[in-house]
Parts: sequence; structure tokens; C-alpha cells
Amino acid sequence: MADTKVLLEEQDIPRAWYNIQADLPKPLPPVVHPGTKKPIGPDDLAPLFPMALIGQEVSQERWIEIPEEVREVYKLWRPTPLFRAHRLEKALDTPARIYYKYEGVSPAGSHKPNTAVAQAFYNKAQGVKRLTTETGAGQWGSALAFSCRQFGLECKVYMVKVSYQQKPYRRSMMETWGASVVASPSQDTEGGRSILAEHPNSPGSLGIAISEAVEDAAKREDTKYSLGSVLNHVLMHQTVIGQECKTAFERLGEYPDMVIGCVGGGSSFGGIAFPFVKDKLEGKSKVELIAVEPEAAPSITRGVYTYDFGDTVGLTPLIKMFTLGHTFVPPAIHAGGLRYHGMSPLISLLCDEGIIEARAVHQNPVFEAAVLFARTEGIVPAPEPAHAIKVAIDEALKCKESGQAKTILFNLCGHGYFDMAAYDAYLSGRLEDYAYPRAEVEAALRGVPRL
Ligand SMILES: *Cc1c(COP(=O)(O)O)cnc(C)c1O
Repeated sequence: MADTKVLLEEQDIPRAWYNIQADLPKPLPPVVHPGTKKPIGPDDLAPLFPMALIGQEVSQERWIEIPEEVREVYKLWRPTPLFRAHRLEKALDTPARIYYKYEGVSPAGSHKPNTAVAQAFYNKAQGVKRLTTETGAGQWGSALAFSCRQFGLECKVYMVKVSYQQKPYRRSMMETWGASVVASPSQDTEGGRSILAEHPNSPGSLGIAISEAVEDAAKREDTKYSLGSVLNHVLMHQTVIGQECKTAFERLGEYPDMVIGCVGGGSSFGGIAFPFVKDKLEGKSKVELIAVEPEAAPSITRGVYTYDFGDTVGLTPLIKMFTLGHTFVPPAIHAGGLRYHGMSPLISLLCDEGIIEARAVHQNPVFEAAVLFARTEGIVPAPEPAHAIKVAIDEALKCKESGQAKTILFNLCGHGYFDMAAYDAYLSGRLEDYAYPRAEVEAALRGVPRL
């Protein structure tokens, strides 16, 4: 067998983040105030985010230097390995060359610390004492808890109630790093209390938890809010992933024909894809970029590209993005993560322009792919990147039919060692495939604000 793993050196950790806003085919539509319907400015965001991050959110600079303090923390696990999936290729009997970038080696077990560390650093630098956030599956809360600890910040996490109940050890992990964690909807905020009054058994949703974390941060001088996906600066911080892939492929003398990633809010996919999108926009490559989402929360493939709130209650500004409507609540049966109603505006624009393609997949085939991957490559993938594995396998099987030896790269953006309940449901035949019904999508979209 040829090399299995491409290991980079510490000096290969990128020194700058890539800001794709400098290279977009057209500018991002402005973020709009829900009351005035006018574009928002830095002052509107200042209660929630430090100025450095607000600046990055709208920056048109192509490269933004990574502060040395952030690179120092990255060194705990970066550069991450790029693996050649020889054993999976053999099992599929495909001529395709399959590679995966493994972000599960971070302390929190996913790509999320790439931005969490940066966000904690800039908040600390501005004198902020405490950060609030929401978490769904628990990966983002873990990443922020770890990062706050690195820079001596307090951390309060609103965890979607159904995950709080299903994944108690994610909560223990956050608490181990010193964060305080509460099930959302909670009694700690007005938003939470009003939802509980109407729906005492609400399983919670990411949108509700965002509302709670935003309200908490807006009410306290010493506190700001932190978001783990969707926003431009978050995707930019994640571009260390794709940049390291490009360095590794240069050493190999190869270049991918396809880059595949799962999308919830779009940060892991943006992170691996954008450095390759740059080559494509410059006409240097024809790489296919595929964003994979669940049939149970199909924002790009079945939502609409329009202005909507980022949260459920309607506290955030309006963002133009692919959305299922901000009142969307994914079905409880859905075990695969990626539950957000919207999508990163950057990914949305690139999909709308036809530069990125989106596909939706059902959860049983996703877990089937995950199990095949675990049985060949060894790593138990998180259910989210298993969506990317499913499409990578589909594409490798197409290569088998056509005899083409394509180079396929996917983002294994986290491990699944806290997701064994979902595996258990799959292995015991308790998972149902669920496509979000068109009527529900249409009903939720009627609630989207008009500009
Ligand atoms: C959070 C998370 C996702 C979904 O969020 P994106 O912003 O779309 O990346 C996917 N995979 C893993 C492992 C995650 O932790």
C-alpha cells in the first residue's frame, strides 16, 4: 500500500485566514435591520461581538493574519492529518483515489475549535469577561468551553434540550472545561420562559437556543455572544482546513477533482472548500464542490434564497440565505445533526451562482456509509460528516462504473465518539428516513419576513 497519511509540520499551519469576500463573483447582500429594513452597521453588532470580529465579518481583505496567540493554541492539534482511504477504496473496488482531512484530532473532537479559539482570543483582547452561546449536538459548546478556558473567559452554554438529554457526556465535557450549561428553552431568559409557557415540552431547537444566548449577552455589559457557524468570520477562520489540504496535495503532486463536505450552517464545508473555490474562480481548476445536507433539514435543496432571521424568536438581523423558515423545527427522529433552518450567506451565494452544488441524503444510507467507513478506515465518524462520506462513496462507485480514477477529497470534520446513541438507533433498526414534508416547508416559509 502507498502512503496512508500525509503529515505536515508545525510550520505548515497557515499564517493567514483566507477571506473569500475579496474574490466573490458579486458582493454579499447587506445584512438588514428587521425594524428599519436598512443595512445594519458595526454599532448594531457591538453589543454582541468584539470590534475585531465585526471588522472581519465585513472585511474585503483577501488574507487576514492569524494572531500568534491563536496559532500557538492551534499547535495543540494542527496541522491535522490528510489520510488516503486505501481500505475504503479497496472495499468499494473503485479506481477513485479517496482522501479525507481529519479534524477530529482537536481537543473537542471537531473542526469547531479553529474558530472558537480565534473568537475567544479577540473577545479577551477587548476586555470581555464572559461569552454565551448555543449548542445543538454539543460540539460547538465543547469547542467554546475549551477555548474560553485557554484565554481565561467564563462560558455559558444554552444546549438544545433534546441533545442535553440524549448526550449527557457532552455536557460533562463542557463542565470539565469549566463552562456552565443549561437545557434550552430555559428559565434563565425571557425568550426561554415565554416558549416554555406555551410549549412546556418543547424539545428545543438551535434557533431557540440562539435567541436565549443572544438575549443573555445583550443584557450584560461584561458578556458577548459567540456563534459557531454561518457568519462570514467563522467560515474564514475555518479556511485553515482547506489551506492545509492544498499544501498536502502540493507535496503529493496531486489535486482533487471533487471536494465534498456536510453542511449545517456551512462552516466546515466553507473551511475545506473556499481555498479551492479561489482556484476555481481564478480559472485555475475545475474542481467540483459538493455540499451535503440531510433530507430532514434540506435548506439549500428545498428552501428558498431569501432574507430571514438567524434565530427562531426574531432577535437577529435579517440575512439573505437559503432558509426553511426561522420557525423550522427538525423532526425528533432525525439523528444526524445538521439541524439549522438557514445556511451561511457565503455558501448560499456560491450555490445560487452555481459554483457550489448541493445534495440531500437520507439518514439510513448515511449511517450505512458511516459504518462501512468505520469498518474499513477505523475512525467512527460523527453523523454529520457521514453525510459527506455517503456522497464520496456514491461518487467513488460512479468512478467504478465509468472507469475514471478521480481524486475525491472529503472533510471528516469530527469523530462520533459522543454519538453512539445515534449509532445504536441505526444498528438496532430504529432509524426512520424522513424527508421534511413540502407542506411543512411551505408553511414555515410563509412566516419569512417581507422586505
Ligand atoms: C457543528 C458541526 C457540523 C455542522 O456545522 P457546519 O458549520 O456546517 O460545519 C458538522 N460536523 C461537525 C463534526 C460539527 O461539529
